[in-house]
Amino acid sequence: MNQAVTINVPNIGEAENVEVIEILVAVGDRVEVEDPLITLESDKASMEIPALITGIVREIFIAVGDHVSEGDLVLSVDADQTSPAGEQTHSVDEPAIKTGAAPEHTEVLVIGAGPGGYTAAFRAADLGKKVTLIERHSTLGGVCLNVGCIPSKALLHVAHVIEEASALAKSGITFGKPEIDLAALRKHKEKIVQQLTGGLAGLAKQRKVTVINGDAKFTSANTVEVNHDGQQRNLGFEHAIIAAGSHSVKIPGFPYDDPRMLDSTSALALKEIPKRMLVIGGGIIGLEMASVYTALGASVTVVELADVLIPGCDPDLVRPLKKRISQSYENIYLQSKVTRVEPEEAGLRIWFEGKKTPENDLFDQVLLAVGRQPNSGSLDADAAGIAIDERGFIPVDRQMRTNVTNIFAIGDIVGQPMLAHKATHEGKVAAEVIAGHPVFFDAKTIPSVAYTDPEIAWMGLTESTAKADDIKYEKAIFPWAASGRSLSIGRNEGMTKVIFDPDSKQLLGAGIVGSNAGELIAEAVLALEMGADMEDLALTIHPHPTLSETLNFAAEVAEGTVTDLYVSKK
Ligand code: FAD
Repeated sequence: MNQAVTINVPNIGEAENVEVIEILVAVGDRVEVEDPLITLESDKASMEIPALITGIVREIFIAVGDHVSEGDLVLSVDADQTSPAGEQTHSVDEPAIKTGAAPEHTEVLVIGAGPGGYTAAFRAADLGKKVTLIERHSTLGGVCLNVGCIPSKALLHVAHVIEEASALAKSGITFGKPEIDLAALRKHKEKIVQQLTGGLAGLAKQRKVTVINGDAKFTSANTVEVNHDGQQRNLGFEHAIIAAGSHSVKIPGFPYDDPRMLDSTSALALKEIPKRMLVIGGGIIGLEMASVYTALGASVTVVELADVLIPGCDPDLVRPLKKRISQSYENIYLQSKVTRVEPEEAGLRIWFEGKKTPENDLFDQVLLAVGRQPNSGSLDADAAGIAIDERGFIPVDRQMRTNVTNIFAIGDIVGQPMLAHKATHEGKVAAEVIAGHPVFFDAKTIPSVAYTDPEIAWMGLTESTAKADDIKYEKAIFPWAASGRSLSIGRNEGMTKVIFDPDSKQLLGAGIVGSNAGELIAEAVLALEMGADMEDLALTIHPHPTLSETLNFAAEVAEGTVTDLYVSKK
């Protein structure tokens, strides 16, 4: 199989934002090493960027007139073989030992180039450290950029536009049934991923972070062995940051070698749209993928073990989503489980256990989305004396330090919530502690978002936790049916809820369900971090008409000053 290799702008001296004046190749052209690909022109000189690889041009990411800098993506090539020079290219299909001479010793060694790892590596480099970043896959970005947050949101955007276009029929505007070109949609998603991961490779180079492609495992508390394709190298380090992430949980006994059995990665690959799809797991990832496949025409059934969708989120926030998807999904089975999956020629036969489930049913594809577990198994953590708990997580203190003083761990591998924005913040803390800064991970909250339709977002204290832990609280709700902006976009099912201390009226938590809830929750997070109370939120003038006003109005409900609703005084 040919490798798709991206070609980035190499080091072009001090020049930045240089204009592309000519593109010398077209998609489908064969290029040889040293063939000129594009011509750049700065105010001082013009230069040609040559190929360092032989192969066929697959895609061109720039146009004449664009301005580019070192590291920017130029084009991708279906390569005959891995680039001999490597510096300019970044393999996207298969791993290959990356560029440069192997450092025998590094100050900071980072294992895993997901959002936690690359952030830690870049921050440590910015703080003057000599950094080596080891990644087993050939692209940087980890799960989030390659097979998680970013590709899923690219597809969810498409799903959202399809739904919105169809909903406009109620307002007198009818579009035709969408024609779906799956290959083009896949390409669109891949291009976004390649732009971001290629950009990271450029950022690593700008910071002189050495990137090594391979599988790292500890050989002591100061050394690792990196293996790739039969090649091995040994590296010494002063400090290490483990950012090895997580992978999908598998239920034992299911036929995983059957291509109709999907996990989130194969579901995002969008090979085909099945007629009937079963999603096992009604959490965020399962429901996001269900949204995508429903919009693309699949008839989706969701089965969830708990008695609610998105366990952990307050049920009142989930209710509008449940109501909406109950109309478009074939079935939603709660308090139910799949006991067996049997491959048949016509599909996968699923055996259920649950009050409302049939005994068995046949689906074209099954997506298993029942959680993720840490990638601690392959690290040989024992060799460094690093403790791992019974679920495979690496315990750390508030400076992200493991039980071994020079080794830190961040991101999914240290525990819940497994979210990219938690990983990046932890990565910065670890890098700064290593650089001698007196910092701790002391965020008051890590917000959660389900990018479903409607979106659900929450932060801080939830009502469910307050009740379970006997924490005194009060709440105030602003229903979006009273929001002019919500009505004007044709969606009034949302609501904004604030949870606050009954005595001080300080904000303790917030939950939002409705369009753009994921964007809107950030204001509540800031309010919590700043110690805001209901008066602060109520007296902050919000632009009208916006959905952001609903947080302001919810606080006014708490203050008894709301005028956009009538709240009877008991
Ligand atoms: P990862 O991103 O998992 O990266 C770890 C890296 O380490 C990987 O690249 C792996 O190859 C590498 N690695 C592992 N072991 C080794 C080794 N021994 N040697 C070398 N390299 C190694 N989070 C959000 O916040 N928002 C979202 O919208 C969101 N959507 C998601 C959608 C899906 C479908 C999925 C699956 C996840 C989603 N997440 C989302 C979760 C998010 O992707 C993770 O929380 C995040 O990627 C964790 O970052 P990390 O740096 O800890 O690890």
